[in-house]
Amino acid sequence: MRFPNRFWLGWLVNMPFADIVGHDRIIEIFRRSIRSGKTPHAYIFEGPAGCGRRKTALALIQALYCREVADDACGVCGSCRKVAGGNHGDIHFIEPLPEKRDISIAQLRDIQRELALRPYEAPRKACIMEPADRMNVNSANSFLKTLEEPPGNAIIILLTENADMLLPTIRSRCQLVRFAPLSPECVRLLLEKSGMDAAAAALMAQLADGSMQRAMELESEGLTARRELLVKHLEGLTLKRVITIFDASEQVGGNREETLETLDMLLSFARDMVFLSAGCSDIINTTIRTSLEKMVSNMNLKRTLQLADDILETRRSVQRNANVKLALDHLFMRIAGAAEA
Ligand SMILES: [Zn+2]
Repeated sequence: MRFPNRFWLGWLVNMPFADIVGHDRIIEIFRRSIRSGKTPHAYIFEGPAGCGRRKTALALIQALYCREVADDACGVCGSCRKVAGGNHGDIHFIEPLPEKRDISIAQLRDIQRELALRPYEAPRKACIMEPADRMNVNSANSFLKTLEEPPGNAIIILLTENADMLLPTIRSRCQLVRFAPLSPECVRLLLEKSGMDAAAAALMAQLADGSMQRAMELESEGLTARRELLVKHLEGLTLKRVITIFDASEQVGGNREETLETLDMLLSFARDMVFLSAGCSDIINTTIRTSLEKMVSNMNLKRTLQLADDILETRRSVQRNANVKLALDHLFMRIAGAAEA
């Protein structure tokens, strides 16, 4: 099993039903169906992005696999840990291949072949498809028989934001489960659980529209804003006005952890500046290419390498408990000097 992106991992610390927030009614239905031994073999989980459909799908599979608890997962047995750790060999994901819009017939043939094999260790194989509405008519039709009668009693869970986007023939073969957006209170709880401080979580929860995905995006937008601020200050640095240096370290510094994040951003800029001054245009920070090019315009390769060294050295000293403001003042002075020498 492999997770398609980072977002999944951030969210998959614990899996048992008890850890699912905001979908009590749905979880109760799952518990009942597991107890009765009559779990449907194909589900559609419909709901807005970031409301917990994937997490719930994995919790359901974990509960079906775990032999320790009758209608939930224990979260600690070997099987539970493999599901939570993302390395259970009997769980398969389907999503459009990179750069492709649709899920292809070939992908669906592969998964059908895979599901027909004996499970490695679980009682049955499982397949999660997202977004299921990316099956086009042909691939959807090729999948109907599998949905109706999954080989080896496999369980198939289709995730979509809108079940109406699926063919009626697909819908009629699956049990539809509707997920509502999370309440702000649930988002706040989940953010706090993921380690965010209470004030930030409360603010973010109000802005997230019931979606953990949106909350994560908001968080990374915060980082984006900080990066822009850093670039703005870098561009304005000059030894002729020493206030530009003190302003910069005041604005982009912060506590030790924030300063280390800033230094990591600077390191990634410096790496690109070394590349640019060596005549290589293959950089990471493409959105600020113009600014980076401007900054290296009067630096040679030796100078940009020295700059990267200076940043690394500052990072080490900040880690070793140096005064963060002084360390940044000193670094920005060197950067200003490098650009003007
Ligand atoms: Zn278990």
